[in-house]
Amino acid sequence: MDSAPATVVLGTTNAGKLRELVDLLAPVGIRCRSLADEPRAVEVEETGSSFAENAALKASAQARAINAWVLAEDSGLVVDALGGAPGVYSARFSGPEATDATNNALLLERLARHRGADRSAHYACHAALADPGGAIVATSAGTCGGIIAEAASGAGGFGYDPLFIVPEYQRTFGELPPAVKAVISHRGRALRALVPALVRHLVPAGCAALQADAR
Ligand code: IMP
Repeated sequence: MDSAPATVVLGTTNAGKLRELVDLLAPVGIRCRSLADEPRAVEVEETGSSFAENAALKASAQARAINAWVLAEDSGLVVDALGGAPGVYSARFSGPEATDATNNALLLERLARHRGADRSAHYACHAALADPGGAIVATSAGTCGGIIAEAASGAGGFGYDPLFIVPEYQRTFGELPPAVKAVISHRGRALRALVPALVRHLVPAGCAALQADAR
């Protein structure tokens, strides 16, 4: 009997997310593959109006396309003074050709129009695990509160991280080490909440130690 854990495909092409997901899953002992290694992966249009809907859409569509377990997440930045923007549009905030740099520039420009306004924000992450038939078998969510800086600091992380000040550290995620981000971030929190389901579905009974660790 094969007692090795099954493989889960991480349903993202975002290099920053992928790096963090691989690091977060490493201690769980579940093998990960990237969508880049899956020739049958499809482009999934993020048509949902919430992070939860988009995470489920991505997990389910990729799982059906490649006939494998898929863990997908949808995440973004929610800024209070901008009525929750960029929200589910975080990746394409500054248009279809958006880059991290153009998104960050637009964020600063929008907040400058709200001079004196509260700069509080949070990151949100919703994760979904789909079985090879595309059924969603588990979901989870995590958030992380912060303040949008007046200017970028640090080269770590990705996306809006150089502008996202973590109040407890008075540093942006661009300045903080990846290990700190893993512990307190929206993605870290969502992934840890999904670990029991990942182990239940993907670790065979023979791997008793891993099953016990996840309880
Ligand atoms: P998605 O791929 O549609 O889920 O979009 C995620 C987008 O949200 C990214 O491209 C970033 O712009 C932003 N985002 C999500 N999580 C993070 C993070 O941990 N750091 C910085 N930006 C993030």
